[in-house]
Amino acid sequence: MGADGGTIVKKNNQKEAIKEYKHSSSQLVELSSNDTYMCPLSLEVLASPIVGDYLGTFYNKDAVLQLVLDKMQGTRTEKYTHLTSLKDVVDINAVWNEEKTRIVCPIMNKEFQPGSVGNEFAYFVPCGCMCQAKVIKELDRKLCPVCNESIQPRDVIAVFPSQEEEVKLEERMAELSAANLTHSLKPKKSERKTKKRKGEGRMPGMKKAKI
Ligand SMILES: [Zn+2]
Repeated sequence: MGADGGTIVKKNNQKEAIKEYKHSSSQLVELSSNDTYMCPLSLEVLASPIVGDYLGTFYNKDAVLQLVLDKMQGTRTEKYTHLTSLKDVVDINAVWNEEKTRIVCPIMNKEFQPGSVGNEFAYFVPCGCMCQAKVIKELDRKLCPVCNESIQPRDVIAVFPSQEEEVKLEERMAELSAANLTHSLKPKKSERKTKKRKGEGRMPGMKKAKI
């Protein structure tokens, strides 16, 4: 878990913060500014395996899975409306420090500190690799600098984005949605086909014969 550093945050305070959570990156920075990162969904320390949503927020994968299952059973619907299936997130291929408390850029060997100016990170869809954002700016944006998988510039997701970046990420999601795609670029669930039987048993144009 890597939570031995004694980061004790009052759970009630966290819950209050989460109650107001609407993808406000500043709150997430606050929640993650201790020795560890936080999963806003489970209020637990963020620990591998983790997933990322279209706004560059990270969650523990098991927390998202639980949320999706709860939603399928109709027991939890009020929040996180953008998380309805595992297609709405991407598995993050993060490199962690030895203590497993901090994500490290595999190229620059720099630890990710949310909200730290000049040390912004980004992750890529669909591969989920993550590195310092400036690395991707310097390199060919069509290839993931970590695994070399081809990526589109559109699919570089700022982690803990600025407001400006958040607008772009919202636009990207709207674009994908219009193309019937999810954040992970997998197609959305096809609409349930409700086959209506038209005019069952009736033959149009048939008239009663008068005798
Ligand atoms: Zn990659």
